[in-house]
Amino acid sequence: MVISSKDVKTIYFCPRKAKFEIRNREKNKKFLLSVATYQTDAFGCILIAEVDEIVSETPFIVKILKTGKKLSEYHMLESAFVGYVIESNGKKLDTIIIESPYYSVSVNWKPYVSRMLSMIGSFCETDEFRVMKTHLCRTCPFSSECFKEIVNSESLTFLHGVKGKTLEKLNSYGINTLKDVINMSPIVEQLIGKEKTKRLIVQAQSILENRPILIRPVPKISEGLYLDIESYTPINFDYLFGILDDGVYIPFLASDPSSESNVFKEVVKYISKTNKPVYHFHNYEINRFKKLARKYNVELSKSFFNRFVDVYKLYIDHVALPVPSHSLKSIARYFGFNWRTQLNGQLVVHSYAEYLATGDERILQEILTYNEDDVRATEFILKKLIEISL
Ligand code: SF4
Repeated sequence: MVISSKDVKTIYFCPRKAKFEIRNREKNKKFLLSVATYQTDAFGCILIAEVDEIVSETPFIVKILKTGKKLSEYHMLESAFVGYVIESNGKKLDTIIIESPYYSVSVNWKPYVSRMLSMIGSFCETDEFRVMKTHLCRTCPFSSECFKEIVNSESLTFLHGVKGKTLEKLNSYGINTLKDVINMSPIVEQLIGKEKTKRLIVQAQSILENRPILIRPVPKISEGLYLDIESYTPINFDYLFGILDDGVYIPFLASDPSSESNVFKEVVKYISKTNKPVYHFHNYEINRFKKLARKYNVELSKSFFNRFVDVYKLYIDHVALPVPSHSLKSIARYFGFNWRTQLNGQLVVHSYAEYLATGDERILQEILTYNEDDVRATEFILKKLIEISL
């Protein structure tokens, strides 16, 4: 098994996902090894160091690029991995710099080597890892596999809103399975309240019976527009507003931050042409509209914002689904929608950065396809909600 330093983050958060990913790319193993300058053997695996830039040969300084705002523990483990592999090749490493649009630091990686080795050691030596719900599950392509396993074991792991203290509390009263939630509902009610318990019971039934179950009647849903925004978060730049109107995808694209204002005003004009509801998934779009309106002094009335309808909230409030998470991807995939690209919310930021650096139009085209699929998926699941409510 070939493990790259780029796998450290996934191994840290969900070794199960990392195992799936590494096994899936085993066919590209030869290519990975041929481009890796620094590699070493450990625990029966081959470890390769992938750095983004060699800043200087003498002294030897390398750079690892990130996009986030904060330096986290897993960055230190990744740099320990890189440092360990490079020095195992007999090369003296002077400095590792971790850099993002928000910071640039020389890291003291050596104290993290033993922890990194113990993490990688147990990763190499373990075949199967248990399902652990993490933030990665929302966009994970393996979530249906994990979900099936959880359903078989009837664990509470994927019940919406059950984590941390709530999960501990339920477990401490012997409520460990989906059936326990249903059969021991009076105790659950005492622990987490009546309203929450009602929802959990419906959710548990939905998972056990593998079907959507209505929690309450769905309000009238009219024909509308669908909106999805792509932002380049390192500089807070909303560069793409995708609208789906009557089956036609219309991308409003800002080529650089200076055109963001005009493009935003064009989108507002387009939306204001009709009185149709504006469907979006989660609160990101409405929050960005509020921010952009303030930033560019665009007066938007209360009735304009009242037209925004959050499809996520419609689902959460009205229907229980047997899905691992209530992300757009998870709900739409459950009903059979397929995205044409491998992008997700995080990868699309990397892709846009790559587009800015290279000007490669194929990358932009892929982002447009991803954005179009997002609005089409939002329409798709709204139509499914109407079907469920009939
Ligand atoms: S769905 Fe979650 S638990 Fe399963 S592999 Fe993906 S990230 Fe890990």
